[in-house]
Amino acid sequence: MVSSFDKTELLECIKKLVEVDQEWVPFSQDASLYIRPTFIGIEPSLGVSRAGEAMIFVIIGPVGPYFATGSFNPVSLLADPSFVRAWQGGVGSYKMGGNYGPTIAVQNEAVKRGCQQVLWLYGEQEEITEVGTMNLFIYWINDNGERELFTPSLDGIILPGVTRQSLLDLSRSWGEFKVTERTMGMKELLEALESGRILEVFGAGTACVVCPVGSLLYKGTTYQIPTMENGPDLAKRFYKELTDIQYGRKSSEWAPLVV
Ligand SMILES: *Cc1c(COP(=O)(O)O)cnc(C)c1O
Repeated sequence: MVSSFDKTELLECIKKLVEVDQEWVPFSQDASLYIRPTFIGIEPSLGVSRAGEAMIFVIIGPVGPYFATGSFNPVSLLADPSFVRAWQGGVGSYKMGGNYGPTIAVQNEAVKRGCQQVLWLYGEQEEITEVGTMNLFIYWINDNGERELFTPSLDGIILPGVTRQSLLDLSRSWGEFKVTERTMGMKELLEALESGRILEVFGAGTACVVCPVGSLLYKGTTYQIPTMENGPDLAKRFYKELTDIQYGRKSSEWAPLVV
C-alpha cells in the first residue's frame, strides 16, 4: 500500500477501540486509558531503505495513578554530559523507537549511581534538554529578580510534548509570571541553585502530568533541589488544572488535551 492512512479514519478507529474496551478502565478518579498509536515498516526484506509497506496499530492499556500514594514523590536525576540522547540535525524531536533503545543502558547507569532518571545535556554549554520521557520545567527567580517559568525551547532535539505545550498555554493564560522558552546551560542552573533562586524543578509528560525533581547528580556532586520544600505550589497547581480538564471537571477552549 503506497498511500498513507487517512487521519480522520484513524481517529474513528481509535474512538471505536476505546468504546469497545472502555470497561477495562477502573471506575476511579485517577485511572485512565493509555493510547499509543504505533507505525512500523513491515516490508519483508533486509536493507536500509524506505519501507514500501507499513502498518499502523494502536496499543491501549488501563493505567493507574503514576504516584501510587496520591502524593508527589520527587525523583533524582543523573546529569552527565558524556551521554547524548539527540543532536542537531537528528530525529530527537520525534517519538521514534530508535531514540529510546539507546537510552536504556544510560538509564541503568543512572540507577547504578543511585539516580532514578537521566537529565539529558547537550553541547559545549551542557544545555539542559529533557528527562527520560518528560520535558523539563524550572520555576525560578531570574537574574532580574522576576519569577519565571523556564523550559528549553524546541530546537529539534527535544520532544515537543503535549503536556509541555499545555503547561505553557496554562501559565501564559494566567499571566502571573514570566514564561520563557530558551536554552539554559548547567552553569546557569547551578549558579541559580547556589544563590537560592530555584523554586521548583519538575518534569512534564502524559504519564505523570508533572513530576517533581528533588536532586541532581552532576560530576560527582549531588545538588539538592528545594522543589518539595516549596510546595511544590506550581507543580501541584498544574497537576490540578490539567487533570480537571482531562477528567471533564473543568472545560477549556484552548486545552490541546481535550479531544
Ligand atoms: C513522550 C515524551 C515526552 C512527553 O511528551 P507528552 O506528549 O507530554 O507525553 C517528553 N520527552 C520525551 C523524550 C518523550 O518521549
